[in-house]
Amino acid sequence: MRGYGIKAINVPGWVEKEKPAAGPLDAVLRPVLISPCTSDLHSMHGGAGPKEKDRIMGHEAVGEIVEVGALVREFKVGETVAVPCTTPDWLAPGVQGRFNAHDRSPLGSFKFLSQKDGVMAEFFHVNQADANLARIPEGVAPEAALMTVDMMSTGFYGAENADIAYGDTVAVIGIGPVGLMTVAGAELRGAGRIIVIGTRPNCVKAAREYGATDVVSYKNGDLADQVLDLTGGRGADSVIIAGGGAETFGKAVRMCKAMGTISNVNYFDAADTLGMPAPAWGLGMADKTIRGGFCPGGRSRIEKLLDVIKYGRCDPARLITHVFEGFEKIEDATRLMEEKPADLIKPMVRIRW
Ligand code: NDP
Ligand code: ZN
Repeated sequence: MRGYGIKAINVPGWVEKEKPAAGPLDAVLRPVLISPCTSDLHSMHGGAGPKEKDRIMGHEAVGEIVEVGALVREFKVGETVAVPCTTPDWLAPGVQGRFNAHDRSPLGSFKFLSQKDGVMAEFFHVNQADANLARIPEGVAPEAALMTVDMMSTGFYGAENADIAYGDTVAVIGIGPVGLMTVAGAELRGAGRIIVIGTRPNCVKAAREYGATDVVSYKNGDLADQVLDLTGGRGADSVIIAGGGAETFGKAVRMCKAMGTISNVNYFDAADTLGMPAPAWGLGMADKTIRGGFCPGGRSRIEKLLDVIKYGRCDPARLITHVFEGFEKIEDATRLMEEKPADLIKPMVRIRW
């Protein structure tokens, strides 16, 4: 089968692979809708990506089931389902607590791209299908379902980790698709003021629609100073990092008030060192909580997010700005994601309907 992948670091391209087979608990699907993610590109450029060459990219898909293992009870061949980008091994000790992204190693539940071929292929494999596929409820468009599997799950997780109370002032650094879902998640969690940091006009417009009250440009001076000015020197109750380089970390801590929370979902580079001036952290004594987390996955997580859409609380399909038709267009969509033109939020490829 063919797939679009990482031929070598910095070299994307089409590759030929064996069609995957389903183990007893697993399923094989063919993609119906896929979307490239910024993390595919990070990995292609070396990030924390696969060491194996010719690894197929892609981890955001709605797919049609073409094969199920003998022990799969809940799903049948022919069904169209949402595929969580994080598909934990549910027998591993690392998922038997509050988190599910670190099954046997840090970030180990992220299988596509990192540990096996991803969804930008004619066929792809899903481990433990009963626990790792999500049924799309009536009334939810497949395009919206596609946006739950990574963008909404990751963006909302940024908000979940940020200890947001009713009326809190929340700052969101980065308003690409992940940050936009963080804004939506912060609003659902009861934030009062939501200050966002970003510049692309389409993203700024979407941020306001999802609940942003104030917009700051990191190009207009130090973003921590700007947020501190806006809040009368006090800082935000919660700061969520969903974009920017390593330097945003220290700024996030600085713009967070004492006793506040910093929540990161950004994918930093392996070569980065994250640091801050000691006063930003109250010389180590400001009772600021710092968390960093990976997109939670699995069936129940994604089915709950699908209910958020079904009952009209959030429409993540608003993120999709560019639609491509046909399997061959995966290449163009991935290139567009890399170039990030001003009007782009998220591209989608419709492979079959
Ligand atoms: P985008 O590249 O679309 O958006 C990045 C945002 O950061 C933009 O709003 C951009 O502003 C802003 N930005 C750029 N430079 C700076 C800066 N110096 N200071 C402040 N803000 C800046 O990314 P995505 O939304 O697609 O993804 C965000 C991050 O989340 C990525 O690192 C991605 O790899 C990661 N990710 C993490 C996951 C997880 O599980 N933790 C899962 C999925 C993605 P502008 O408007 O100017 O472009
Ligand atoms: Zn991703």
